[in-house]
Amino acid sequence: MIRFEDIQEQVLSYMPDADMELLRRAYVFSAMEHRGQVRSSGEPYLTHPLEVAQILAELRLDLTCVIAGLLHDVIEDTLTTREVLEEYFGKDIAHLVEGLSKISRIAFTSREEAQAENFRKMMLAMVDDIRVILVKLADRLHNMRTLEHLSPRQQQRIARETMEIYAPIANRLGMGKIKSELEDISLAYLDPEGYASLVSALEERRKISDDFITEIRTTLETKLQEQGIRCDITGRVKHLYSIYKKLRVQGIDVGQVYDYLAFRILTPTVKDCYAALGTIHSIWRPVPGRIKDFIAMPKPNMYQSLHTSVMSEKGQPFEVQIRTPEMHGIAEEGIAAHWKYKEGKKVKAGEDPNIQWLRQIMEWQQELRDPRDFLKMVKVELYPEEVYAFTPQGQVKSFPRGATPVDFAYSIHSEVGHHCLGARVNGKLVPLKTPLHNGDIVEILTNPAHRPSQDWLSFVVTSRARSKIRQWLNTDRRSSSIQLGKSLVERELKRFHISAKILHGDGKLTEALNSLGFPSLDDYYAAVAYGKVSVKQLVGHLVPETDWKEPTESKITTVVKKALGLSGAAVKVRGLDDVMVYLAKCCGPIRGEPIVGYITRGKGVSVHSQRCPNVERLLYDPERKIEVAWAGSKETKFQVRLNITSEDRQGVLARVTSAIADEKSNISDVSAKTFEGKQGQIILTLDISDLDHLERIVKRLRGIQGVHQVERQSG
Ligand code: MN
Repeated sequence: MIRFEDIQEQVLSYMPDADMELLRRAYVFSAMEHRGQVRSSGEPYLTHPLEVAQILAELRLDLTCVIAGLLHDVIEDTLTTREVLEEYFGKDIAHLVEGLSKISRIAFTSREEAQAENFRKMMLAMVDDIRVILVKLADRLHNMRTLEHLSPRQQQRIARETMEIYAPIANRLGMGKIKSELEDISLAYLDPEGYASLVSALEERRKISDDFITEIRTTLETKLQEQGIRCDITGRVKHLYSIYKKLRVQGIDVGQVYDYLAFRILTPTVKDCYAALGTIHSIWRPVPGRIKDFIAMPKPNMYQSLHTSVMSEKGQPFEVQIRTPEMHGIAEEGIAAHWKYKEGKKVKAGEDPNIQWLRQIMEWQQELRDPRDFLKMVKVELYPEEVYAFTPQGQVKSFPRGATPVDFAYSIHSEVGHHCLGARVNGKLVPLKTPLHNGDIVEILTNPAHRPSQDWLSFVVTSRARSKIRQWLNTDRRSSSIQLGKSLVERELKRFHISAKILHGDGKLTEALNSLGFPSLDDYYAAVAYGKVSVKQLVGHLVPETDWKEPTESKITTVVKKALGLSGAAVKVRGLDDVMVYLAKCCGPIRGEPIVGYITRGKGVSVHSQRCPNVERLLYDPERKIEVAWAGSKETKFQVRLNITSEDRQGVLARVTSAIADEKSNISDVSAKTFEGKQGQIILTLDISDLDHLERIVKRLRGIQGVHQVERQSG
């Protein structure tokens, strides 16, 4: 069993002047807090934090990390609070331990790969100190090493979580050694048979492998020395999971895997790395497509190395990795290699101009005195463009920065998006355009009657939401266009006394539509509504013009009857379902005055007053004219603006307003001003029930002493 002294010794080996008193206090504190607790293995619980601290010390991490390792479970598993930790050990350590407890509360449950990806990113996005992740990985590593003591169900769950979340995170941070160990242990639990057969197959070949390794290594050493290249060569069987994956991907049997052996050459300089590569290719034939230069182009996780696969004399392929000792440190420990105790001395890894990522971090580090700021920069570098939010059921979803509840709604289902009425973020109602933040819990409120709005397009950021909203708006417009076009066509047919049956018939119709370039009758209707094609064009194909009867102009059917006038808002028309009708803004007709309907392109029927100057211009296309009539409730009020000129006499305004009150009209807006020459102007906005009402009011106003002129204003 591990002892505290082991950790102490390890820490002193690389931090001779570290605060041992603080480390000891953390140990005693952890021992007190976990007193009496026992692990599933039967060991005292304390062994776990000790082992975790030891792993962190082996990575040569700073004292804060090692102490956080000792204390990592105290908030989660004992009665200790963050405040107590802060009082005893300071802000930094308390912050790390709190971050760890936060992470452990996220339960990964889904089997979807995309979910795993989101969980990984979420975890990284949630912590503001990358050391939280380093301690968490050490914690998980020790738990995996002791997984045998748990129940089979727990083993499955933890192994899967490790494979899908923690190993990729270790990989993302460049910590190759921990990643490989996590993967291999997980594999042993996730596919025990596959694991066992792989182990035994490799065991069977062990003798051959060992001989092969010795032989190749000897050749390599000799040849490289001849070239004056100093080097350190190791040969090994690749880690199990990487071989396992290869078998799976290529669908082959273990007997067919040849390049399960890999050699690693460490050589002092980058120049030597390339020289060694040349030498190797002069001895063995390289396998095409397998040469990779990660020195010139490092992986995103900072990994650098040259890779090649070559064919031995006996036809056995093997892989060779070539790198400098510094690159090796990064390959094994990744970000941890740069988070080592380094008081008073600078890390030398920035020397190679090709290590861009690292160089940048080094630069930041020089600019930023506070290591916490440095870590924030590292974090920002990881995933700057994304934001993660939860469903109330705990599913994580990833979005581009700036995403809103509407984006969230559409990511669930397009129906949820279409009927999205509002959103609760972390239990609070927010406007639909509120940007989401990491860790937000988003609940979407829907109403089946609610519809997408054009306005949404101005703030959604996901292409899914954008295209679904567009699609909906287009379909909506299209269906009203089809309705409108259909009624137009039927009306025209009636005018020429042609039976509408010709539209529901035989091959002749399809033929006619095809020749006009329409895939279906609906497409044709829509085109008619948009004014792209005339009714005659189709009818001409179906009925010879000689058979056409004289049109009857007199009997235009009244098609549109509706309670027009809900202050200009579009309203639906009875008898012509789903056609939108609205009062034209240019003239604002009111009940009782003669009106004209005009079929617009794709926006329904606009209703103008016959006196409107636009009517003549709009109706150059007689096919688009449609008869409309006032219908519906008399309760509806229309807004009318009156422009009154008067003598600027005290009391005119008072008499005007009282006359209007007498006529039971409401004034919704009024402005009055005086011009030179004592002329006054009053502009009133009134609620009017119909034309009679308006005429009565105008007549009374004209009778008021001092009033010169009363005019109705358009627009
Ligand atoms: Mn733990």
